[in-house]
Amino acid sequence: MTIPRKELSRLHEISELFSASSELTELVDKIAGAGTAIANADACWLALKVDPNDPLEHAATCNLATKSARMLSDDIAAWLPEMTPDTDHPLILTDLKRKDALGKVAAAEGYSSAVLVPITYNKSLTGIFVVFWKEAGEPPVEAVELLLLVAHLASGAIANARLIAQARHRSAALDVIFNVTQTIGASPRIQQALNVILDEANRLFGTTQGNIRLVDPKSKLLEIRAHKGLSRITLKYMQDRPGKKSLSGWVVKNGKPVIIRDVKTDPLTAHFHGNPDPVSSMMSVPLVVGSKTIGVLTIGSHEHREFSQEDLSLLLSLGSQAAIVIENARLYEQAKSRLAEQKALYGIAEHLSSTLDVPTLLKFVINHLSAFFHANFGTLRLLDEGGATLMTGAMYGITDEYIRHANENLEMSLDPSTAQGQSPAAACLREGRLVAISNIAKDRRFAEWRKIAKMQSFTSVVCVPLVPSNEPLGVISLYFQDARKLAPEELELLQTAARASAIALQRAMLDERLLKEEVSRRALEEVSHLKTEFVSLVSHELRTPLTSIQGYIRLILAGHTGGLDPVQQDFLNAVNRNTDRLVALVDDLLDISRIESGRLELLLEPLDITETIVNEIEAHRSQFEGKGIGVTTDIQTGLPRVKADSHRLGQIIANLVSNAIKYSGEGTSVKVTVGQIGQNVLVKVIDSGIGIAPEERNRLFERFYRGDNDLVRATYGTGLGLAITHHLVDMHGGKIWVESEKGHGSTFSFSIPAIPNG
Ligand code: ADP
Repeated sequence: MTIPRKELSRLHEISELFSASSELTELVDKIAGAGTAIANADACWLALKVDPNDPLEHAATCNLATKSARMLSDDIAAWLPEMTPDTDHPLILTDLKRKDALGKVAAAEGYSSAVLVPITYNKSLTGIFVVFWKEAGEPPVEAVELLLLVAHLASGAIANARLIAQARHRSAALDVIFNVTQTIGASPRIQQALNVILDEANRLFGTTQGNIRLVDPKSKLLEIRAHKGLSRITLKYMQDRPGKKSLSGWVVKNGKPVIIRDVKTDPLTAHFHGNPDPVSSMMSVPLVVGSKTIGVLTIGSHEHREFSQEDLSLLLSLGSQAAIVIENARLYEQAKSRLAEQKALYGIAEHLSSTLDVPTLLKFVINHLSAFFHANFGTLRLLDEGGATLMTGAMYGITDEYIRHANENLEMSLDPSTAQGQSPAAACLREGRLVAISNIAKDRRFAEWRKIAKMQSFTSVVCVPLVPSNEPLGVISLYFQDARKLAPEELELLQTAARASAIALQRAMLDERLLKEEVSRRALEEVSHLKTEFVSLVSHELRTPLTSIQGYIRLILAGHTGGLDPVQQDFLNAVNRNTDRLVALVDDLLDISRIESGRLELLLEPLDITETIVNEIEAHRSQFEGKGIGVTTDIQTGLPRVKADSHRLGQIIANLVSNAIKYSGEGTSVKVTVGQIGQNVLVKVIDSGIGIAPEERNRLFERFYRGDNDLVRATYGTGLGLAITHHLVDMHGGKIWVESEKGHGSTFSFSIPAIPNG
């Protein structure tokens, strides 16, 4: 078909007209007008669909009564199937005497024929033109052809207008979100976010009412979290319906947005009857993050509003952006509260590391942990040394009066056959892990212990062991009067706090022990020092007058003051012997005090040890003879010399030789041997005396030690000789030891380093 020039230029004008309007509502009016005009028709009705799966809905009319348009719209399902949906062919109806809406409209408005022109885009039906003529009969072919062309132009223009609308919606939604995030700023608070979202949604649609409900993660109920323009009565009414049986419930359940054109007639809002708030039309959209519906956003208008599918999709896209903001704000708040908890814990840990004394630390730990977890009572029990009992170290919220009244035992047995041994604290320590009981009355494991729990009126208990490394130190127990179930992250926090406390506690206990040891060590040192001072003072005060007494006695005995009769001689000899003993005792005391206070110094020089030995044996000759003890020597020739203090080396040998005489019976024998062993000179004093029992051998070298033996008791001695000898050998860099068998003599040996030959 050739299109007449006139029509061609009209088509061009129409195309220009269509492309000039980007507003869909304006465009559809133009399409309806242009279609009617170009086909020389009398009226036109236009229906469109938003989505390919949606039904066709009234979009615009030209010369058609509103009532007629609604009739067509309502009855579309009855007559539309006559069209072949996926073709561009129009349906020509020359007889409109029908029973459906087309027939009724034709009868009411006086039309005789009609053409139904499909509007297709990308091969799918997006709308329909219904053009009416008053004139009966077949409409002109050109008119139908022109209508098809207009439909074609219209489909492109509609698609464009939709794209533009979508872009606008998106940018409007982004504007809102921008406003929301701007207002919320750097510290998003969820309540603030919700209020801003609701305000912005109302502003966007010029509505005055609305609410946001969020699904409570625990109860799964819909809680009203923000509202606008709702009376108290309406709010109460909504609060009483937090479940699925409400408009919001429907939206969450179906995950679909919904338009309520008329609140009074829509089944979803039928229960609103009697609602004092004059709401007429509403839109409600789910708030979805990923695959999770977190709530519902609803806005409402006082006046009747024809909310379009476009409006709904705008609200939906605002909702989906808002959902992300809400979720983020929620996560942020969660993170913030975790952070606050971590900070509080850090504060506790910091304090722990600076507290040293155990009682303060115990009190601090139980007070802070109880307060932190809002416990009514708290106890910190420590394992006693035997490991069979828990001793209360510190308590929180338990008054002395309460202890008396409830007969709270400060000691808790761990024996599982007792009621206390079956307590959560005992189980926690035995198992070495956390025990949390939300209702003690219902937990069978602690049936035995329920009486105690009842007496102390608590419902929930949490016990955590104090384990610094491997071995538990004790248990922290928190008691709650009301049922309380700590969340997993709270339990984790409690365990971390318990670990930190256990480490701090162990350190404080260790410090305390070290401190005690240090104090007693210092006290011992002080006593020892005083004793040394005392001995040294007394020795000097005795030694000086004794030396002078000794000198005078010797002068008298030697006859320098005239002759002595035999009695005087005897008496003076006794005085002389006892003075010698006193001098020896004072000398020993002086030596030991000098050695122990580090004030004894050696005058070291190269010495021939053989000479010293021979001299000392000679000095003891009269004593050997007095007891009839035979003395022999076995001295290796060519011995190296030793570096020694001659006086002190003599003292060492004298001590050993005099002991050998003292602790041997009459008529026995003593042998002294000297030889070289490696780099040392070895001296042995061998007697065949009383010997020494094995258990005494280790103690011989202690100060003031004397053997438990009749001969020892009958023999004068101080128990200082071997102690001094041991120190002196040590000071010469040597060693001393004894081999002996009780009743069969003893061998005292000492070695001192030799001066290397050459
Ligand atoms: P003292 O001889 O003044 O008692 P010592 O320190 O010299 O003090 O000796 C300590 C103890 O060692 C003596 O009392 C004695 O019991 C034991 N003892 C020492 N030498 C001998 C020995 N040769 N044989 C047996 N016992 C000895």
